Amino acid sequence: MKITDHIKQASGKTLFSFELIPPRKGKSIQELYNNIDPLMEFKPPFIDVTTSREEFVYIEKDGLLDKKVTRMRPGTIGICASIKHKYNVDTVPHVLCGGFTKEETEYMLVDCHYLGIHNLMALRGDAMREEQYFKPTPGGHEYALGLVEQVVEMNKGHYLNGMVETSDCSDFCIGVAGYPEKHLEAPSLKTDLKRLIQKVEAGADYVVTQMFFDNKKYFEFVDLVRAEGIDIPIIPGIKPIAVKRHLQLLPQVFKIDLPQELIESVESCKSNTDVRQVGIEWAIQQSKELMEGGVPVLHYYSMGKSDNVKAIASALF
Ligand code: FAD
Repeated sequence: MKITDHIKQASGKTLFSFELIPPRKGKSIQELYNNIDPLMEFKPPFIDVTTSREEFVYIEKDGLLDKKVTRMRPGTIGICASIKHKYNVDTVPHVLCGGFTKEETEYMLVDCHYLGIHNLMALRGDAMREEQYFKPTPGGHEYALGLVEQVVEMNKGHYLNGMVETSDCSDFCIGVAGYPEKHLEAPSLKTDLKRLIQKVEAGADYVVTQMFFDNKKYFEFVDLVRAEGIDIPIIPGIKPIAVKRHLQLLPQVFKIDLPQELIESVESCKSNTDVRQVGIEWAIQQSKELMEGGVPVLHYYSMGKSDNVKAIASALF
């Protein structure tokens, strides 16, 4: 079922969902299941599975370091299929521009269609770890907008080689990213908003936001989007702080602000267990307020560990 239909069916009740990162190559999928199991009691209608782009690795060979490009966390579509099959829940693969040609994306979309996956998040992806700026993959899309357009064309039965086949079209529900504090590369929130609107006009069905720790930022963002006449669901993404290092890491990586009260609470913690607890309590308060504000879904960035998300969900759902 489409995410938008899950939201409609909930008739105003806030839904619970979360996202997972595929395990590193060579690790068992059981670890992932162990983290999903405790969250199933909260009845997520859908679970997202992220995609990690390729990275450089260095392999020692004859005393020299050989630089190789590899994908360390492959398997997004396979994981989506296995979770869907095991838990009877909808899964949402994240589809990236970075690291994929349009043809490879088309093959992935065909696989999703065969597997009965009806939703996907269309994302540009970030720069490779050793690169300062995002470089489009030759033969790939430069922006998420192009990806949205490709999915929309495929939903009409139009394939990249010019073939038109309308007998068994896909009908993907398309999610895109939105940034209450603007995307780190955007020159202004207004410009970034213009880009988001382009994605919606091209056919995006819903938005999931980047993490934020001050709900005011989310509500203001929603108001700005609504003022542009856009009424698709805007799902808030919530990340519970889990370690002290997040105080530096999250603003550095995502260019987001942390409220002073949260910073001080985390700084006063004596152990990581205490930090985790502060993160849980903050996320509960944030979630309660967002629920009161009528958000359609609370979407948690679990980063593969479910204990804190379970604690949060237990207080809310
Ligand atoms: P875009 O919408 O393409 O925007 C990227 C930048 O380009 C923005 O600054 C935008 O303002 C600008 N822009 C857009 N169009 C134009 C244009 N025509 N001309 C000039 N500038 C333009 N990353 C992963 O690698 N894997 C994941 O699984 C993943 N999941 C995510 C899930 C969510 C909910 C979110 C919020 C992010 C996720 N990301 C993931 C991170 C995402 O890939 C990065 O934030 C990326 O840098 C931007 O992706 P986007 O889809 O927002 O890009």
